[in-house]
Amino acid sequence: MAIIDAESVVKELRSTYTSGKTKSYEWRISQLKAIMKILTYHEKDILEALRSDLNKPEHEAFVHEIAGVSSSCKLALKELHRWMKPEKAKTTIVTFPSSAEIVSEPLGVVLVISPWNYPIYLGLDPIIGAIAAGNTVVLKPSEMAPATSSVLSKLISEYMDTSAVKVVEGAVPETTSLLEQRWDKILYTGNGKVGRIVLAAAAKHLTPVLLELGGKSPVVVDSNININVAARRIISGKWGCNSGQTCVSPDYLITTKEFAPKLLSALTSEIEKFYGKDPMQSNDLSSIINAHHFDRLTKLLDDDKVSGKVVFGGRRDKTKLKIAPTIVLDVPGDSSVMNEEIFGPILPILTVNKIEDSIGIITAKEKPLAAYLFTNDKKLKEEFIRSVSAGGMAINETNLQLVELNLPFGGVGESGMGAYHGKFSFDAFSHKKGVLIRNFLGDVTARYPPYSSRKLQF
Ligand code: NAD
Repeated sequence: MAIIDAESVVKELRSTYTSGKTKSYEWRISQLKAIMKILTYHEKDILEALRSDLNKPEHEAFVHEIAGVSSSCKLALKELHRWMKPEKAKTTIVTFPSSAEIVSEPLGVVLVISPWNYPIYLGLDPIIGAIAAGNTVVLKPSEMAPATSSVLSKLISEYMDTSAVKVVEGAVPETTSLLEQRWDKILYTGNGKVGRIVLAAAAKHLTPVLLELGGKSPVVVDSNININVAARRIISGKWGCNSGQTCVSPDYLITTKEFAPKLLSALTSEIEKFYGKDPMQSNDLSSIINAHHFDRLTKLLDDDKVSGKVVFGGRRDKTKLKIAPTIVLDVPGDSSVMNEEIFGPILPILTVNKIEDSIGIITAKEKPLAAYLFTNDKKLKEEFIRSVSAGGMAINETNLQLVELNLPFGGVGESGMGAYHGKFSFDAFSHKKGVLIRNFLGDVTARYPPYSSRKLQF
């Protein structure tokens, strides 16, 4: 049983929205500034909550969560005036004489449901878009990161306008009860199974939905590269981002049979430089979120088709919820590790005869949230960009496409629908209203009855 009165929450937010206060530029700016204050005055509280929920290293927590939200918020503060301005549109002879503009108007009352892996970033970043666009908003953080959920609830109610921005904490019953309400947009980040529940609930009210899901994001590594730079960037995107519990982390790697030993040696020697000879002792590796996910990941490794294929790492400690960076080589395509999103510190390496063969392996699977390629070959790069469909991509890099605020961020197919970040967040929470403006000149009577064939020739 949900212990929240979702109906009253939405009623209050709708009444605030109807009052028109959230539409003003000044209100939007005041709320964006409130987010900046939360980040500035409560950095320590946020870092502690992230350490408690995920054992997230302070460096990662600061760069990926606090600095991530802060740069989005600063961009919105700087650009909001420009974003809110009606955009001039061209007109054609059909409407001559006229002018036209596209007006961005808020949608109304929106719901953001966020996951546990980047609980600050994935909670606050969508809120920036929602309030920049002039909406009222409810955030439902993940119950799996309870300390962060509680810190968000406390700080948002302390610093923000609570008649327009609310946090509803809770798990499935609370979310279910929120989903029964009528929203004007829902942004859901998490797994595809719940994404389908959200979409079905939204359909009842014709509510548009932005689904930020996951998938198996491949990284293809050619041989003509700077191997050490590539190894560091792959390690950073995999283990240096929440121990692989990141939606865009490389899920599996493909390289050629010939290059695999060299690449493996570069990866293992760089991993040792990052996390020491015994990574289980390193404070720079996040823990696995909970026992359920720990068991899920160790089951992937203990699968008969996989256990003999561990070529690096493999150690785990359930009491600390830690799994060392682990590489498995040439596991069969029908093993579970190659058929479900790993979302943890295990990296399967598949080998092919020719690097071009990697494209067929990727396109035979569902469309991932991200795809990566390391190469200096222009033709291969062009072929990869053209042939691989993914939410986003990075060439000779991992994960950084996510922080480039001039790029839309979102999935395609099984990895999601819709996109946000930067101006795309403002657009995601706005309705683009086309407005045609005419005066009383140029009234062509041929359009009016009584109709005649002569009028059609006009
Ligand atoms: P999670 O378990 O925290 O769930 C996400 C949200 O869904 C939570 O707020 C939770 O309360 C809610 N929820 C769970 N079950 C529900 C139900 N039955 N009905 C209604 N709401 C429910 O997070 P998760 O799903 O484990 O997150 C991991 C997944 O999210 C991975 O697949 C990952 O790739 C994806 N992800 C995507 C992005 C992105 O930006 N595209 C970012 C992070 C994670």
